[in-house]
Amino acid sequence: MAIQQKLSLMIPGPTPVPEKVLQAFSKHPIGHRSKEFQDLVESTTKNLQWLHQTQNDVLTITGSGTAAMEAGIINTLSKGDKVICGENGKFGERWVKVAKEFGLEVIKIDSEWGNPLDPEEFKRILEEDKLKEIKAVILTHSETSTGVINDLETISSYIREHKTALSIIDCVTSLGACNVPVDKWQLDIVASGSQKGYMIPPGLSFISVSQKAWEAAEKSNLPKFYLNLKSYRKSLSSNSNPYTPAVNLVFALDESLKMMREEGLDNIFLRHNKHKLAMSNAVKALDLNLFADEKYLSPAITAIKTGEMDAEEFRKTIKNKFDILLAGGQDQLKGEIFRVGHLGYVSDRDIITVISAISNTLLDLGQINTQQAGEALLIASKYLKSD
Ligand SMILES: *Cc1c(COP(=O)(O)O)cnc(C)c1O
Repeated sequence: MAIQQKLSLMIPGPTPVPEKVLQAFSKHPIGHRSKEFQDLVESTTKNLQWLHQTQNDVLTITGSGTAAMEAGIINTLSKGDKVICGENGKFGERWVKVAKEFGLEVIKIDSEWGNPLDPEEFKRILEEDKLKEIKAVILTHSETSTGVINDLETISSYIREHKTALSIIDCVTSLGACNVPVDKWQLDIVASGSQKGYMIPPGLSFISVSQKAWEAAEKSNLPKFYLNLKSYRKSLSSNSNPYTPAVNLVFALDESLKMMREEGLDNIFLRHNKHKLAMSNAVKALDLNLFADEKYLSPAITAIKTGEMDAEEFRKTIKNKFDILLAGGQDQLKGEIFRVGHLGYVSDRDIITVISAISNTLLDLGQINTQQAGEALLIASKYLKSD
């Protein structure tokens, strides 16, 4: 039986929270119309723009990541609008559902789970749209359910060439893990959530909105009230919120963004990249296979196939023996894969520990020999050194 109270979260959200951020979170709440709170809104907003690499408005909504994505869709589009939805996993599927729920006409571009979306398909369909009927392209950058990162840089360049269509992007597990230069790629709507790369507990979501998206918002006729972004923009001009925000999460956000600024964007991206490489390469030494196409591995999460072994049993064993929580497969992947989250406040030690826990469990099951277990650690150490 593992010692309790030392849970290691290695799932793609909620992610571990630094002590300093927990301390900020645990303060007594203050009035959300006070000068003190307005100062916090001002500083967090500036730092959010830094994180998004943008001059666009970045709004904070009390709600999970899905709220920000839904807001992006209902604020910029109208009933019957034609949109492209990229779908290569569970989150892609969700945005198709949301779009249909609001009466949008969805053109689906899909690819098998584990594979990336093909940018050339976006190009072809956007180029064929001579009448400019496509109003938005909706897609997930890092598909958390499969561990695949889609080539957003190339896809966004095709969206720009179309000129009319907005880009509405789920960057929930890419923002704060790898480069998402919102201005450079001219991304119109970028959605993210607090319990992922931000290193704070769940409950806040963020949405960056371009000038072009604000113009589209003037014409949008889909119903909205709580998620009407114009209310958020209006109150942000006086560093305020339209409704009572999750005050303590904003304390936490202020602290975590300061930590991120201290580390620096490049270092944050390098850290996630080396953890991805250490994880994925170590796993191969353990005779396990990656689920995602190796050229498109997400920096936030590694999905691992377990072959004959039941992935759910394997995950439970690791939880019981080591108190490390790994994520399972979703839908048809349940029992087939497990997923290791390495997003946010994750250190080299966490990576070494999880690889050791996986190796140890495989050794117990007689699936590998000690040499392979050693090999996996050696490989991981090599990648971890590379900074
Ligand atoms: C976690 C996640 C979301 C948001 O989910 P919520 O539960 O609403 O916070 C959206 N997209 C991706 C890719 C995610 O990983």
